[in-house]
Amino acid sequence: MLKECSYCKGQINTEIDSYFTCLDNFIQVKYFDTEEENIFCSQECFCNYVQLEEIEPLEEEINVKDKR
Ligand SMILES: [Zn+2]
Repeated sequence: MLKECSYCKGQINTEIDSYFTCLDNFIQVKYFDTEEENIFCSQECFCNYVQLEEIEPLEEEINVKDKR
């Protein structure tokens, strides 16, 4: 079956391509109106969709840790 990644809109053929789907109930309810929307071509697309962001430690905090 041909589906589409909810983030990048790339096509996913579920018969030949692997894909990612979120199994967490809370996230499903919060982010997806239908099951069809819970499909992503990569982990990166899912992370972008739920706005997962990497926060770099501040340099000052790293210096404090080194002194301990
Ligand atoms: Zn994608």
